[in-house]
Amino acid sequence: MPSVLIIEDDADSRRGIVKLFEKEGWKVLEAGDGDTGVDIAVQQRPELILCDLLMPKFNGFQVCRTIRQQLQPTKIIVVSGRDYAVDRTSALEAGADEYLLKPITWEVLCDAIDRLLPELPHGPTVTKSASEPRSVPPRVKLWGVRGSLPLPGPTTLRYGGNTSCVEVRVDGEIIILDAGTGIRGLGLALEKEFGSQSIKLTLLITHTHWDHIQGLPFFAPAYNRKNLIRILGYEGARAGLGAILAGQMETPFFPVSLRELPSHLVIEELKEMEFHIGKVKVQAKFANHPGICAGYRLFTSAGSIAYMPDNEPYEPLKMQLAARNGISGAEARDFAATERGKMVDFLRDCDVAILDAQYTDEEYQQHVGWGHSSLSSVVSLALDADVGKLVLFHHDPSHDDEMIDRMVEQARLLVLKSGKTLMIDGAREGAEILLEAKLAAK
Ligand SMILES: [Zn+2]
Ligand SMILES: [Zn+2]
Repeated sequence: MPSVLIIEDDADSRRGIVKLFEKEGWKVLEAGDGDTGVDIAVQQRPELILCDLLMPKFNGFQVCRTIRQQLQPTKIIVVSGRDYAVDRTSALEAGADEYLLKPITWEVLCDAIDRLLPELPHGPTVTKSASEPRSVPPRVKLWGVRGSLPLPGPTTLRYGGNTSCVEVRVDGEIIILDAGTGIRGLGLALEKEFGSQSIKLTLLITHTHWDHIQGLPFFAPAYNRKNLIRILGYEGARAGLGAILAGQMETPFFPVSLRELPSHLVIEELKEMEFHIGKVKVQAKFANHPGICAGYRLFTSAGSIAYMPDNEPYEPLKMQLAARNGISGAEARDFAATERGKMVDFLRDCDVAILDAQYTDEEYQQHVGWGHSSLSSVVSLALDADVGKLVLFHHDPSHDDEMIDRMVEQARLLVLKSGKTLMIDGAREGAEILLEAKLAAK
């Protein structure tokens, strides 16, 4: 049953429209003001919203803008008593798909719905076309492993040149961690695997630095009406997640806008640090990185995976601050130790940890405050947290294959010296980590 949300402060007018839709078998949701309307829209995600313009709390333009940022597939029809050209233009600019005049008849509405939602006569696409992801053994696959900037070419053939993107297939879910340029290859592979079947996936964004979102406009499943894409992440320091993702696809940068993408694409800003994707429990932790940046830990039936692609240890930063601002070294060290302890807790006993290892220890001395880790700091973090396997991730664009080989060797030496057990690999584009095999080995 398709659903429609009527946002209208005039109760009589609202009831009239509700009746029209109920007669045609729609599920009808109602809101008496713009603020409530936005809340219901985000929670219930109806296929269609009918919205008045002049309302208390949130006017119709604000409602359109807010909903458009968060719900791309939902169609919005503004129904207004006013026939000013400027209102029509402003409503469409704010994100409305249609502007209709009151009093409204079912024929006029029907015409607009046919234009906006041509698939509806066959039932709402969202519920009908969704199919279970195919059964793939629980695994992590790396599609983009580089930080900062893609680096194709002869020097990165073995480890790969694409930026951050990791696919996790577990417990019936397709969970994608970040949408760097690596997501292009993943999208093509998913389309090939699923054919005409719908793909249902969740994309978790750590933060909106370009190396983590730039592949999204080239993600093939987003261009296919059959697919359901849920994008989750936290609000940024200066703008919401939806606004930033839409921003990189605005006309000066890209020919197709985010809201024109035909897939059922929903962007949700996370408020909690713990939530579920199907049966997978997700725990988030904010990283020490410029702006708002999170890392995620997935608790699955085949072990747990931590992904913290951009993170800097606190101690060197705080010691630098101590030298400048007259804080005592002991205070600085205490603060850093507490924060490090929280990170160790976050990673404790996880089977696979994919962590920022952008710099060698020598390079890091020149990059304190850039938001990334040194090799020895990340190895010691994984050792203290008793991680099963550490994947050195977010390779610096200046590191060629040989350099990464050397860093992996150095990291393994550090483990040897510690007397503990920790498997270490350099993240390599195309590499797969089978989670069951990992668990069996433990
Ligand atoms: Zn990054
Ligand atoms: Zn970053």
